[in-house]
Amino acid sequence: TVRVRFAPSPTGPFHIGGARSALFNYLEAKHTGGTFVVRIEDTDQKRSTRESEENIKEALRWLGINWDEGIDVGGPDGPYRQMERLDIYKKYTDKLLAEGKAYYCFCTPEELEAEKEAQMAKGETPVYSGKCSHLSPEQVQQYLKEGRPYVIRVKTPKNETLEFDDLVRGHVAFDSNKVGDFVIVKSDGIPVYNYCVVMDDALMHITHVIRAEEHLSNTPRQLVLYKALGFPVPTFAHVSLILGKDKKKMSKRHGATSVQQYRDLGYLPQAIDNFLALLGWTPDSDQEIFSMEELCQQFSLDRVAKNPAVFDIEKLNWINFHYMKELDEDQLLEICLPHLQKAGYASDQPSDDERTWLKQMCSAMREHVQYGAQIVDAAKVFFTEDYQPENEETAAVLKEETAPAVLKMFRDELEALDEVTAETVQPLFKKIQKGLKVKGKFVYMPIRVAVTGVMHGPDLNVIVALMGRDKVISRLNASGL
Ligand code: GLU
Repeated sequence: TVRVRFAPSPTGPFHIGGARSALFNYLEAKHTGGTFVVRIEDTDQKRSTRESEENIKEALRWLGINWDEGIDVGGPDGPYRQMERLDIYKKYTDKLLAEGKAYYCFCTPEELEAEKEAQMAKGETPVYSGKCSHLSPEQVQQYLKEGRPYVIRVKTPKNETLEFDDLVRGHVAFDSNKVGDFVIVKSDGIPVYNYCVVMDDALMHITHVIRAEEHLSNTPRQLVLYKALGFPVPTFAHVSLILGKDKKKMSKRHGATSVQQYRDLGYLPQAIDNFLALLGWTPDSDQEIFSMEELCQQFSLDRVAKNPAVFDIEKLNWINFHYMKELDEDQLLEICLPHLQKAGYASDQPSDDERTWLKQMCSAMREHVQYGAQIVDAAKVFFTEDYQPENEETAAVLKEETAPAVLKMFRDELEALDEVTAETVQPLFKKIQKGLKVKGKFVYMPIRVAVTGVMHGPDLNVIVALMGRDKVISRLNASGL
């Protein structure tokens, strides 16, 4: 049965590319009835933080990407944090050393640098010469006794082709001479990623390694290690890069790149999942909206494309808007409230009355809100005092001959109402049409522009009711009555 894993390095914000890798692994597990493992690769101690680990786990849970075994949930192959597995790694390192498959290397950084420069000068790929593999056991013992700093390197076979069939990229081959004897344990005694990943994937019985294309070039090193350790090689699937619309690698320049940023902007997890699934995976129909359940049913690695995926924010917005429409009034407010609070449009602890008003306002504005943060722009009309008609064309509406009379009559009618609600305001427009003998457009437009500054928006009676009598009247007055 299929066993897949997501193995993030907790070294910073959780990138959407990482979320996509996690999702693909999750979907593959769900689709096949397999097991999804989450492991933390924290051997880069300078850059790894617990905070980042928490952040990743929190984001995965938010996205509904739940794991069957691994960090926090446990399982038979733990621990699931690499820094807690050092004794396991040590056993394999001792074994490789005893079998002569790995060796101590005492070369100093200066020696290595000189070697590298000489090779580069000859136009060769810099590869470690293997010098220390020729040390006699006595010399090694002597150096160790002297306390010389060392790393441990694995012996890479010469003149071999390191090859595998990647589920996404097809046949991939590397020349072993370009790999050379590489470091598996650093001078501080901590094993490197390429080494730990092999031991962990093998000991956790991982059958399919689904990860980002950037790791493709690590795979030949990992193949060397599978062989040296005598472990079966899993099937690899290297998923293509995510590019911005300009076809350059997705980066901060393109906007938000971390899951947290999208969450903070008021995107919905089901929209992010839906969108990320389509970054590389092509369904066999033109369906674009997929629930997580549908993704689990339909996802398959053989429909994951080799060419880079382009991150199209408009498409994400469109998908998110689709899911926003499914929210009821309370859920919609939940998504919008933090943004309204940040803008100063809502109190930190809204009273029941304020909540009711906010709910109605968000619902009235929902056509203009693709994701939570957009509520601020939509809601601005209720809160800005120095609003103006947005442009000359809009301003011109107020200069029409009939405008002053329309605005005046509307003001008088509003003043006369017992209570201003969407229902009580609605009949006023017809009444003005009849009373002043003007077409509907000449009633709605000037009132809308006087009250909101723009020519489009939700139903005018709803806006007026939300804004309240006093504010509407002061805006009517301000528009030149
Ligand atoms: N820790 C690696 C990373 O976050 C994972 C590589 C892998 O999946 O093998 O990039």
